[in-house]
Amino acid sequence: MQIRDRYAPSPTGLQHIGGIRTALFNYLFAKSQGGTFILRLEDTDRTRFDPSFVQNLYDTFEWLGIKWDEGPDVGGAAGPYIQSERFELYKKYADELIEKDKAYYCFCSAERLDKIREEREAARSSETGYDRHCRSISPTEAAERVKAGEAYTIRLKIPLGESTKFHDHLLGDIEWKNDDVNPDPVLLKSDGFPTYHLANIVDDHLMGITHVLRAQEWLSSTPLHVIMYAAFGWEHPEYCHLPMVMGQDGKKLSKRHGATSIDEFRRQGYIPEALLNYVALLGASYEEGKDIYTLDELAARFSLDKLNKAPAIFDYKKLEWYNGQYIRMKSDEELAELCLPYAVEAGLFGAGPGSVVPGPIASSQGKVPSPEQRSTFTAAMPLIKERLVFLHEATEKLGYLFSEPAIPAAEEFIPKKADLQQAVSLLRMGRDLVKPLAEAADDASAESLIKDWAEKNKVKLGDLMMPLRAAITGARVSPPLFGSLRILGAEKSLARVEKALAALNTAR
Ligand code: GLU
Ligand code: ZN
Repeated sequence: MQIRDRYAPSPTGLQHIGGIRTALFNYLFAKSQGGTFILRLEDTDRTRFDPSFVQNLYDTFEWLGIKWDEGPDVGGAAGPYIQSERFELYKKYADELIEKDKAYYCFCSAERLDKIREEREAARSSETGYDRHCRSISPTEAAERVKAGEAYTIRLKIPLGESTKFHDHLLGDIEWKNDDVNPDPVLLKSDGFPTYHLANIVDDHLMGITHVLRAQEWLSSTPLHVIMYAAFGWEHPEYCHLPMVMGQDGKKLSKRHGATSIDEFRRQGYIPEALLNYVALLGASYEEGKDIYTLDELAARFSLDKLNKAPAIFDYKKLEWYNGQYIRMKSDEELAELCLPYAVEAGLFGAGPGSVVPGPIASSQGKVPSPEQRSTFTAAMPLIKERLVFLHEATEKLGYLFSEPAIPAAEEFIPKKADLQQAVSLLRMGRDLVKPLAEAADDASAESLIKDWAEKNKVKLGDLMMPLRAAITGARVSPPLFGSLRILGAEKSLARVEKALAALNTAR
């Protein structure tokens, strides 16, 4: 069988973890089977539609590096792939169900439907949904009222007293009593727009969708969809409802737990591969002891049988771990490229408008780096790579390389069990070391140089380094000192040490 599956978002909000998990699983399933992955925009709800959400969808998947084989932007034989461009079609299929006596016209006003709801609420009735009031209107009468111009909706005529069965790949055989299914839901609204249910199944059918992988929150719609397929005389696709994504408290993942929209993760400095890798493992297990997978590796291993039934717990700490891992796998050039937009945005290379950084971190607050600043930035990557968790952290960690840090308070220069006097003499020794350290070929030669010096002068290595570090980086804790000296160069470094010495001398 030629597998065809789809991601069918409604552009009524930003792309979030649950959505990209669904998209990714569909993508991986299609790839693993040599099938076709389709994007379809379900924009039937015009009141909640916003074009910026469509843009966000495209931006998100471009950033993630996930491509569909057919979709609004890439085309395909089953298009158009935007439901609002297919409206005529849905009306035709709704009419077909009327003809087959599988659907009927409903003339109830919004007021009437509101009234039933209110009455039920007042009576604390457990009944919900439509009361099937118009189901008994004869087809001839209904046709006449439609002809006379009366407003109507079209409702599905759910066969009562029967039950509907279907198989879910994860949940097994499922059976629902038809009487418990949403009573005769609207398929076509009075303005001629289809509802989600009608458009969704007509499109899945016409687009040849063989497998529906979607979040478990849609499970309650599935019996209804299966009834509709039967009403049309079509075969329904295979279903696999994906387990919910929960926070660590076992509640549905939401803003209370942390970032959920992909824009937020981007702003926080996540790498797309890290996010994808982690999301791919949400509710699925592949190989024992292997955590890091490329998209291709995932596609090669994906199978519906590897999905877990239990809800997936979203662990932000684990995601951070992945981000760190992916950061360390980048070359210095790649990492600099990734960190740069955040640094520009935060004004690392000077404030003021200048840059336009693509994506959600853009607000063009800062200047773009000069070629020299840029190469400094790249050269500094080895200093921070091992400790970086988020891309934006580079800005804060490397600030001292791009503007002179404020001279710290005198205490910051003083090693344990020493006093200010000793700190000054240590820093003076350090001053003599600046040039040779800055010109050392690498860390190892810098280290042996300073060690020899410390031995010769009978001071502790740590005590010698501490005031020097404070003078150069402006902090007691900083990226590695030797690399910092090499990047800054002897001249700038010396100037910092002199300045610090002057400040300490006045502090005395
Ligand atoms: N438009 C629905 C959504 O927003 C699609 C559900 C489905 O996959 O059938 O998720
Ligand atoms: Zn009615």
